[in-house]
Order: sequence, then structure tokens, then C-alpha cells
Amino acid sequence: MTVQDSTISQPPSHPVVFLGAGPGDPELITLKGRRLLDQADLIIYAGSLVNKELLTGVQGECFDSAGMDLEQILKHIIAGYRKGQKVVRLHTGDPAIYGAIREQMQWLDKEEIPYEVVPGVSSAFATAATLKKELTVPEVTQTVILTRQAGRTPVPERESLRNLAAAQATMCIFLSVSMMDKVAADLIDGGYTPETPVAVVEKASWPEEKKLTGTLANIDEKIKASGIKKTAMIIVGPALDMESTIASKLYDTKFKHEYR
Ligand code: SAH
Repeated sequence: MTVQDSTISQPPSHPVVFLGAGPGDPELITLKGRRLLDQADLIIYAGSLVNKELLTGVQGECFDSAGMDLEQILKHIIAGYRKGQKVVRLHTGDPAIYGAIREQMQWLDKEEIPYEVVPGVSSAFATAATLKKELTVPEVTQTVILTRQAGRTPVPERESLRNLAAAQATMCIFLSVSMMDKVAADLIDGGYTPETPVAVVEKASWPEEKKLTGTLANIDEKIKASGIKKTAMIIVGPALDMESTIASKLYDTKFKHEYR
């Protein structure tokens, strides 16, 4: 056997990449993500939320997965991989959050196809940036909860918004703006006061981004008046209150510096 023959019989060597596209702004993708997109032969992107500007100038073939079911998506990925192509599955934000990558990875495991995951900027953090807020404020809250209202996808009762509200932490609520009335009612029932600050950002980091602020008592009315229906992040909690005068202990000169 010649060296060339043995090279040909090698299995394809490019792991499939699950890639976080970031929240929308094409500059909010990692350098690694940008390189992988530019080098890809096949890109299957979640067209409902991924900014197509990210695909401008790429050499690879691009397919929108919006109209495909899981099997169709996987067939595409696997066919590309078996041809030796560099395959990128492009997800909005960070793929670990409501990305439905678990079932795709399980399928690839069964087929013994290697893959890697490259993180992205989640819309939760793009929203915090738009709002210019820190989600963790000493002596107010040191916890951020990423969650959603139950919809077609059920949420276990122990982590219903009402139960989570008891912690009085900062909550980033995905996939729920169309149910704002119920979200606000559940959060108040669970323990937040009606005066708790809330912010909603639609299409954070996109040119058409819209932002609204209010309290749990009035946010639903404001959302209805604004016409915001989807692709919006709700952030709620006392950390949003900029009136609070509590300064971060970390920069207090009396605080030990070892853990900075
Ligand atoms: N993996 C994504 C979330 C996908 S679920 C991430 O990490 O951001 C889809 C939900 O994410 C939307 O319903 C909305 O709540 C939120 N979302 C996605 N992109 C957004 C954006 N640019 N601005 C505000 N919310 C966004």
C-alpha cells in the first residue's frame, strides 16, 4: 500500500462543530467561531434567529434549518461529515441554552461521529449589555437564573417562575414575552414586589433593537402597547435598580484583596 492509499482510507477528520453565533450583531461572534465559519464547507444555520450577515462571504454551502425537522438536519450533517466536509451547525446565542443540541449530539454519538461545541454570547448577556446593568450586585443578589415560562415545552413545577421567585435573584427569562401577563403575575405571586424593576429587550444587539423598562406592575401594559411579541429577553430583579447605593465590596479598600 502506498502512503497515498493509506491517506485516502482515513476516516474524515473534521469534527462537526456546534457553534454559537451570538445574539445578532455579527461582531459578537468569537474569533474561533468566525474562523470556523470561514473555513466551513457546509453550514446549517437556525435561520429564525441567526443573523444572515454572518454568512456574507463564506465559501461553504448554507442551509436554513428553520423548515427542517431533527432527522433532516442530522442527515445533512452526517452526509457532509462522511464526505469529509467541515460541517458547522450554527445556533443563536450560546448553543447550551435552549439550543436543542443535546438530541443532535446524542444522534452523532450513536453514529460515532466526533463533534465539538464552540460557545457564543447568549442573548441574556447581550441584553444586560444593552441595559448597561450588572446582574450580580453585592448584598442585593449574587445569583442569576436563566429560565422560561412554561409554554408548549413544559417546565417542571419545582422550577416554576412562582417557585424560583422566592430567591429574589436576577432572572433572565427566555421565550416568554408573549406571556408577559402570566410571567408578571407568577413572579408577584412568588414573592417579588409589584415595584420590582423589569426590562425587556427585543432583538438585543440588532440594528432594530427595542428596549422597554418598567415594574412588574406595569410591564405587561407597556409590552402590549409596544407591539413586542417575540425574540425578546425579560430581565427582572432588584439588581436592575440603579438607585441602590450599595458599593461593590470587591473594590472597598478595607476588603481583603486576595480574591479579587
Ligand atoms: N441560545 C440562545 C437562546 C435561544 S432560545 C441564546 O443563548 O441566546 C430563543 C429565545 O432567546 C428568544 O425567545 C428570546 O427570548 C431569546 N433571544 C434570542 N436572541 C435574542 C436577542 N437578540 N435579543 C433578545 N432576546 C433574544
